[in-house]
Amino acid sequence: MSAGSESAAIIGGGLAGSLLAILLARRGTAPIVIERSRPFSNAAPPRGRSINLALAARGIAALDRAGIFDEIEGLLIPMRGRMLHDERGGRRFVPYGQRRGEAIHSVSRSALNYTLYEIASRRYGVEYRFEHECVDFDTASGSAVIASPRGRELLDAAVAFAADGAGSSVRRALGRAGEINASEVPLDHGYKEFTFRSGSDGDFALDPNALHVWPRGDFMLIALPNLDRTFTATLFLPLEGDPSFANLHSRAIEQFFAANFADALPLMEDVEADWANHPTGYLGTVHCRPWRYRDRVALIGDAAHAIVPFHGQGMNAAFEDCAEIDALVAKHGSDWNLILREFEARRADNAGAIAEMALENYRVMRDHVRGDEFNLRTKAAFELERRFPDRFIPRYSMVMFHPEIGYAEAQRRGAAQDDLLDRLIGEARTLDEIDFERARGMLDRFFGSAARR
Ligand SMILES: Cc1cc2nc3c(=O)[nH]c(=O)nc-3n(C[C@H](O)[C@H](O)[C@H](O)COP(=O)(O)OP(=O)(O)OC[C@H]3O[C@@H](n4cnc5c(N)ncnc54)[C@H](O)[C@@H]3O)c2cc1C
Repeated sequence: MSAGSESAAIIGGGLAGSLLAILLARRGTAPIVIERSRPFSNAAPPRGRSINLALAARGIAALDRAGIFDEIEGLLIPMRGRMLHDERGGRRFVPYGQRRGEAIHSVSRSALNYTLYEIASRRYGVEYRFEHECVDFDTASGSAVIASPRGRELLDAAVAFAADGAGSSVRRALGRAGEINASEVPLDHGYKEFTFRSGSDGDFALDPNALHVWPRGDFMLIALPNLDRTFTATLFLPLEGDPSFANLHSRAIEQFFAANFADALPLMEDVEADWANHPTGYLGTVHCRPWRYRDRVALIGDAAHAIVPFHGQGMNAAFEDCAEIDALVAKHGSDWNLILREFEARRADNAGAIAEMALENYRVMRDHVRGDEFNLRTKAAFELERRFPDRFIPRYSMVMFHPEIGYAEAQRRGAAQDDLLDRLIGEARTLDEIDFERARGMLDRFFGSAARR
C-alpha cells in the first residue's frame, strides 16, 4: 500500500528534519514529516539524549536563513569561553574568541526542537505523522518502508530526506542492500548527565556565561547553563578500565566526584540517583558514501555524518546541511537529481573534516587545556589574529564563528597555522618572548594564498 503521493518527505522530525521542513515549506514544497516518537510536547524531555547543546554561528546562520532566529534567540544563554576548574578548586577563564559577539550559546534540545516543530506545523502547515517509523528501505521502488499503527506502507514521495539521526534506519537499510558504504565507529568513552541545582538565592550557582570544564586527563566533566538557572553536567569517561563506566557503581560515585570534582559535588542534586537513573550514552562517528540513493533519497545531518560531540558541531553541521539544500532548491527548483548530487559534493568533505576535528578536540578539552603550552598557543593565536586579522583566524574561531569558511578549509588552514605557531613560539614561554613581526613574512610565505582564498 502506498502512503499517498507527496512531493517531498522527511524521515525524522528532529533538529535537522524540522528545520529542513521549514525551509522547504518556505520554497513552496511543504513536506510531510515521518517521526517515530509520540507527538512532541513542551514538557520535559525523556532522559537519554543530551539535555542542552551549544549553538554556534553555522547553526545561527541557517536559522537566520529560515527567518526564525528571532524566535529562537530567547532560548539561548551565551557562553563566552571555557571556565577551567582544576583539582584544587581553582578556576581559569579562557575566552573562545576576541571579536565582538564571539560566543556560543547553550540551548535546550527539546525546547529548540519543539519550537522548530511548532513553526513548521502551525505557520507552514507541515504535516507531522507521529508514531510512524521508517523500518526499511525498498530499493526496487526507491521508497522508505513506514510502520505505523495502520500497518506497513511504502512512502510514496518524489524525494525523501533521511534525517533520522545517528542510528538512521534508511542508512542501515541502504548499507545492507549494498547501495552505500557505511560504517559506525564507536568511541571508547561514553557519557552520563547530572544536574547542578541553582544557588541558595535562586540564581545560577556558577557563572552562566561560560562552559564549565573539569579536565582530568583521560576523562572530564562539563556543565552548560539552563534557562531555569540550573546546569546540566555531563561526565565523559572511558567505557572500560579504571576509572570507567564499567568499574564505577552508584555507591562509589560520590567518592569519585569528591576525589576529582570536589567543587562540583556540593552543586549536585543527587549524584547517586543521577548515576543510577540516567542512561549511559554511547558516542561514535558515522562514515558513509554516497549519501543518496538515485534521485529518491538523501541522508542529512547525523544520519549521514554523526560525529562525537567535542567540538559542539553536530547540530550546527546538520543545520548547515539544511541551508545548503535550501540554496540548491533556490537554484535548481525540483531537479532532485541535481540537488542531491550537488548537496553531497558540497558537503561530504566538510563533514569528514569536522568529524576529525571533533575527535581531536576531545583530547584538547579533557587534557591539553590544562597545560601552559595550550595557554600560550591560545594567546599567541589571538595576538596573530589581532595583528593580521585578514590573514590569521584561530582554527577554533574558524569552526565556531566563521560559517563563510567551510570545515574542510578551516582544517586545512588550521594545520598550516599550527605549523606557523610551532615555529614562531619555538622555546618561548611567554608572549613577550615571541617575535610577532617575524610572523608577517611567515604568513606571506606559508599561507599567503591559503589565507586569501
Ligand atoms: C552528548 C551529546 C552532546 C551534544 N552536544 C552538541 C552541541 O553542543 N552542539 C552541537 O551542535 N551538537 C551537539 N550534539 C550533536 C547533536 O545532538 C546532533 O548532531 C543533532 O541532534 C543531529 O540532528 P539530526 O536531526 O540529524 O538528528 P536527531 O536530532 O537525532 O533527530 C533524529 C529524529 O529522527 C527520529 N527518528 C529516528 N529514527 C527514526 C525512524 N526510524 N523513523 C522515523 N523517525 C525516526 C528521532 O525520533 C528524531 O526526532 C551532541 C550530541 C550528544 C550525544
